[in-house]
Amino acid sequence: MPKIFVTRPIPDAGIKMLQDKGYEVVVNEAAKDRVATREEVLAGVKGVDALLSVLTEKVDAEVMDAGLPTLKVIANYAVGFDNVNLPVAKEKNIAVTNTPGVLTNTVAEHTFALMLSIAHRISEADRFSRAGKYTAWGPQLLLGTDLSGKTLGVVGLGRIGSRVAMHAAKGFGMKIIYTDPKPSAEFEKEMGAEYVATIEELLPKADFVSIHVPLLDSTRHLMNAERLKMMKPTAYLVNTSRGPIIDEKALAQALAENWIQGAAIDVFEFEPDITPELKSLENIIITPHIASATLETRQLMSVLAATNIIEALEGRTPPNLVK
Ligand code: NAD
Repeated sequence: MPKIFVTRPIPDAGIKMLQDKGYEVVVNEAAKDRVATREEVLAGVKGVDALLSVLTEKVDAEVMDAGLPTLKVIANYAVGFDNVNLPVAKEKNIAVTNTPGVLTNTVAEHTFALMLSIAHRISEADRFSRAGKYTAWGPQLLLGTDLSGKTLGVVGLGRIGSRVAMHAAKGFGMKIIYTDPKPSAEFEKEMGAEYVATIEELLPKADFVSIHVPLLDSTRHLMNAERLKMMKPTAYLVNTSRGPIIDEKALAQALAENWIQGAAIDVFEFEPDITPELKSLENIIITPHIASATLETRQLMSVLAATNIIEALEGRTPPNLVK
């Protein structure tokens, strides 16, 4: 019977599917509230047919070699797969899958929650109130910014970027501009959106900039000091994609010196570490990589990862094969 190693405990819907198939499923229960150690992953992957990995583990040549000759599929429990060395997996003939689509709505909602929170100063106001500083209603107390009528700049109009843009256009009457190597005339028509060929054209026009690109060599430090300076001083930066897409030191300087109004970020350059300067600033909202963290979505991701494993091990093409 096929054997599966799951590097960290995940919601159980997918685990049950694998067990119902009669597969032997070993879940690394020790890593419930922490990252799986390298030793746990290297030992766990030995002799298995499938590895179900999460984004906190680096799945590189050493891990794959430890799983060979039996390892046939790596099912990554995330839409991003920058933690998996794809060229090496190809070379070794190991299929790699991800979990796209099922988390689109949830990540788009979280992005919107961040955008509303930073514009309406929700976290700051919460800290203020808890600290006993609310002594009287004030005509100028904690003034924020409206979303309606403003321009949202979407960097990366894929599944999540386009959902965020839809909420913004349809729900909040925002104007949309976007940049992506693959423009969509249909989307532009539907949302009244404007396409710009480069991020440099987008940044000076947007009141909110929301990043939705994958982490690639070409997107690492896409938002660096130079590009942060191109944003309006009244604009906000939101990032729910991957941390290294923003140069975090430059962001801390931009916020401290008011090059921009504020930022709201879910992902970090050196996760789980957060550049210390960011934590002492008022004009930033920080969430700990939870943009897809709803019970419903994490169960759906579990089902999708299990489906990918079952399809691959039964000799069919898994639905979310990463090419
Ligand atoms: P997607 O592949 O549907 O969309 C990515 C888009 O970015 C594509 O349209 C692509 O053409 C575009 N793109 C690539 N390089 C670009 C560039 N240099 N400039 C502009 N556009 C560029 O992916 P998705 O499902 O929308 O997810 C986007 C990213 O969000 C994932 O890669 C993942 O890293 C991240 N993510 C984070 C969380 C979280 O928990 N914070 C959850 C899910 C996904």
